[in-house]
Amino acid sequence: MKDFIKIQEPRECCGCGACVNVCPRDAISMKEDRAGFIYPEVDETLCVKCGKCAEVCVFTEKLRGANGEPSVYAAATADKSVLMESSSGGIFTELANAVLDKGGAVFGAAWTDDLAAAHICVEDNAELKKLRGSKYVQSSTGDTFRQVKELLKEGRYVCYSGTPCQIAGLKAFIGEDCDLLLTADVICHGVPSTKMLRDDLSYVSGGKVSQISDIRFRDKSFGWGTNGSFLADGSKIKYNSGCSPYYFYFLKGEVYRESCYNCRFPGEGRQGDITLGDYWGVRQELISGMGSVDPDMGISCVLVNTEKGKKWLESVEGRLAITPSDRKTAEKRNGQLTRPSVPLPEHETLLNGYIEKGYTAFTDGYKKHFKDHVIRTVKNMIPSKTKRRINEFIEKIKG
Ligand SMILES: Cc1cc2nc3c(=O)[nH]c(=O)nc-3n(C[C@H](O)[C@H](O)[C@H](O)COP(=O)(O)OP(=O)(O)OC[C@H]3O[C@@H](n4cnc5c(N)ncnc54)[C@H](O)[C@@H]3O)c2cc1C
Ligand code: SF4
Ligand code: SF4
Ligand code: SF4
Repeated sequence: MKDFIKIQEPRECCGCGACVNVCPRDAISMKEDRAGFIYPEVDETLCVKCGKCAEVCVFTEKLRGANGEPSVYAAATADKSVLMESSSGGIFTELANAVLDKGGAVFGAAWTDDLAAAHICVEDNAELKKLRGSKYVQSSTGDTFRQVKELLKEGRYVCYSGTPCQIAGLKAFIGEDCDLLLTADVICHGVPSTKMLRDDLSYVSGGKVSQISDIRFRDKSFGWGTNGSFLADGSKIKYNSGCSPYYFYFLKGEVYRESCYNCRFPGEGRQGDITLGDYWGVRQELISGMGSVDPDMGISCVLVNTEKGKKWLESVEGRLAITPSDRKTAEKRNGQLTRPSVPLPEHETLLNGYIEKGYTAFTDGYKKHFKDHVIRTVKNMIPSKTKRRINEFIEKIKG
């Protein structure tokens, strides 16, 4: 007799939502735990024990995909306004536009009115701006996997972008590779919960969350880095690890869901046809192969994992500054390509403190890192060009 999915430990579920989408009785819904992380909950009065939810789960060994050795590039869009609004080189928008131009649909993470991130479907180029930019929080996939299946059945092209576990979930749900589906995963080190983010926004805005809009974790008016901003009552407020305990602990890798420390998708397990990340520390040799690109406006690290990914990238190449690189170089400044994040000892204390005492646990812990804040604040003040030169100099000395 088959049974419904039973999660033994939090580290075994990434919250991708494939089980919710596959259930023929709509018996599964996502529920928040005490830290705000979402997990599936089965309504046993509706369940017919078909076992589909357990079979589709991406955190089981059997469904782990491997695409073989990728081709690696450094790339940036030639469109300056797209580049400015994108977290790295704006390659996502170029791929998405190509799919829309063929009458397709694009799925990705957008902000909701209540300060959460959720996957939505976009069918118009002008709407793509909702998906641009990294939202450093877990995005809910809702019923988007079902929507994708319907669109593919109608013969439409679809681009679905998200974290590797979301792409793995979608692929497991769809069941077979489909020529019409282009998947793009981001290089991902982990996601905190929506509850944590909302608590932080309340903290940094002095309780005026209802006035907050236009959250950007990466605002390029401050250069290519980890300075962000939001609008509060129409005024732009800087948002970074110097004022936000959440952003500070996010960058330190302390506040992710447990599955992120047990992630199955770094290294060989890339899930997207194309993987997108920041080409941090991009070297002068590469930049010189990219024409007139401004390296301080953001460059993407692009991994092409499949033949399909190759074709789509070739279709937009004319709109990019692009140069070949290699996996070893890309991995050097992006550990997420080789291994999951490692929880530091503070992770457990912080999480338990948050569950017991609420957001005070973040602010109390944060104050103890005074030295780190000074260092980060100074680092954030250094223009990206100067930072790049310092990094190049250090790499030269290291040989
Ligand atoms: C949670 C998270 C962690 C990341 N960690 C790293 C890292 O450690 N190293 C690294 O090099 N790059 C990381 N990235 C990727 C990087 O920040 C850029 O998103 C990526 O380089 C694509 O940039 P772009 O300029 O092409 O497009 P952008 O327009 O900046 O990217 C938008 C794309 O990101 C997707 N996206 C945004 N937020 C989310 C979310 N919450 N969940 C799922 N998908 C989302 C959108 O659907 C869209 O496809 C991370 C991204 C996210 C969302
Ligand atoms: S076993 Fe079948 S009916 Fe029950 S929750 Fe899972 S998918 Fe739904
Ligand atoms: S990993 Fe995805 S499919 Fe598996 S239980 Fe969690 S939400 Fe469901
Ligand atoms: S680190 Fe892994 S498990 Fe966590 S959100 Fe990213 S892909 Fe999913």
